[in-house]
Amino acid sequence: PAAAGAPPPPAVAPVKTGAVASTTKNVRVAAHSHVKGLGLNAQGIAIPSAGGLVGQEQAREAAGIAVDLIRTKKMAGRAILLAGAAGSGKTALALALAHELGTKIPFCPLIGAEVYSSEVKKTEVLTEAFRRAIGVRIKEVKEVYEGEVVDMAAEEAPEPLAGFGKTVAHVVVTLRTARGSKTLKMDASIYEALAKERVSTGDVVYIEANSGAVKRVGRSDTFATEFDLEAEEYVPVPKGDVHKRKDVVQDVTLHDLDAANARPVGGGDVMSLLHQLGKPRKTEITEKLRAEINKVVEGHLASGVAEVVPGVLFIDEVHLLDAECFSFLNRALESNLAPIVVLATNRGLTTVRGTEERSPHGMPVDLLDRCLIIRTRPYTVAEVAEILALRAATEGIRFADGAQSALAEVGARTSLRYAAQLLSPSSVLAGVKGGDAAVVGVDDIQEADSLFMDAKASARVLLTNSEKYIS
Ligand code: ATP
Repeated sequence: PAAAGAPPPPAVAPVKTGAVASTTKNVRVAAHSHVKGLGLNAQGIAIPSAGGLVGQEQAREAAGIAVDLIRTKKMAGRAILLAGAAGSGKTALALALAHELGTKIPFCPLIGAEVYSSEVKKTEVLTEAFRRAIGVRIKEVKEVYEGEVVDMAAEEAPEPLAGFGKTVAHVVVTLRTARGSKTLKMDASIYEALAKERVSTGDVVYIEANSGAVKRVGRSDTFATEFDLEAEEYVPVPKGDVHKRKDVVQDVTLHDLDAANARPVGGGDVMSLLHQLGKPRKTEITEKLRAEINKVVEGHLASGVAEVVPGVLFIDEVHLLDAECFSFLNRALESNLAPIVVLATNRGLTTVRGTEERSPHGMPVDLLDRCLIIRTRPYTVAEVAEILALRAATEGIRFADGAQSALAEVGARTSLRYAAQLLSPSSVLAGVKGGDAAVVGVDDIQEADSLFMDAKASARVLLTNSEKYIS
């Protein structure tokens, strides 16, 4: 007899999501780890030093308005352009904006020059960056039903199923649980497990379903320990009830899903690992695979198992892109799966790469028209000193008397970035000299500064000694 009751919700197609390391470019973001937000008050006014940001008040307030526009969905099809000198905190600002949008927002930094490679097409590099900046939050809904089997029925397949010798397509099991009756439909592979366990009417069983699809089944006497319902991940319930797993949320990006599903399907053993050695290192992510991933994700979205989290794609030195890339950007911004795009440049009026056209920031006018432009201005010495103090605190470094102002002076003479980069070597030097590596003195900073060169000084050396270098 066919079991009564509504069928369980349809299962969504499986997509590999487990064990995918997020591929965000962590290293590049590490230099800005002290940045936690825009540091604005409730009225949207910049607090001089807050959220890890110092100064740059106007730009921060403008970015705050951009955040409001994004939240109210008024930025669709548009981008933000940060215009200002190198080292004026454009990356820091973009990251702060991403933090304001949410804690688990993907942030994908890219430099214009990175699109040029002899192996990968420019639009491919950009496509990947866009997909790295789109998060997918997958909610796993795992439930374990515990109850007495009151009915079991096999549904016949129209064609005999190979390997089962029978024509079983589905098994429909009705359980009596503490809450009432529950009917679960499971596929033929689960039927095998039921048969092996010799489950029959009257037995108390556990059935585990993952987002509606039955994954495991077993008799309570043999499987009780394996299901481990005492584990912390389950919400405690009275015996015989439905054990719901606590909300398990996994954050991945579209690119993570592409990469995880593009891996060659080897056996996972040593031989197949060795076999991969001779082959090209790059796993190929094809347009076809991306289309498939999109379809699966859309299925998850429709069933409410997943939700899209648009992140921030930050393209620094955007003037290095060419006409082809700019038209790709224009099109990509129109897509309904677009991240928030933040562009940055330190260029004024210049030629758009790949054309004869001169344009502000080296960007085509049609793209500029879509941009909300935010200016950043150079820092004062006092601001540089404060930013360096923040960096030192994050790196666990303290300054001995006078060291902070000595480093700030270096920053004013060279650049903020160079001064910030001197922190770690100065601390190494302090340690080498037998002192406490966590306390940096004026002499450590002077020594580090004499050992290394800032970009401008290096350029001067090259210029005055050009005959000694190969050009
Ligand atoms: P740009 O992108 O404009 O070149 P950036 O954000 O990369 O600038 P760097 O010159 O690399 O800035 O800055 C050196 C360090 O100072 C980084 O750790 C950066 O996070 C930090 N920083 C820059 N601006 C600020 C700011 N306004 N407040 C706090 N920290 C800042």
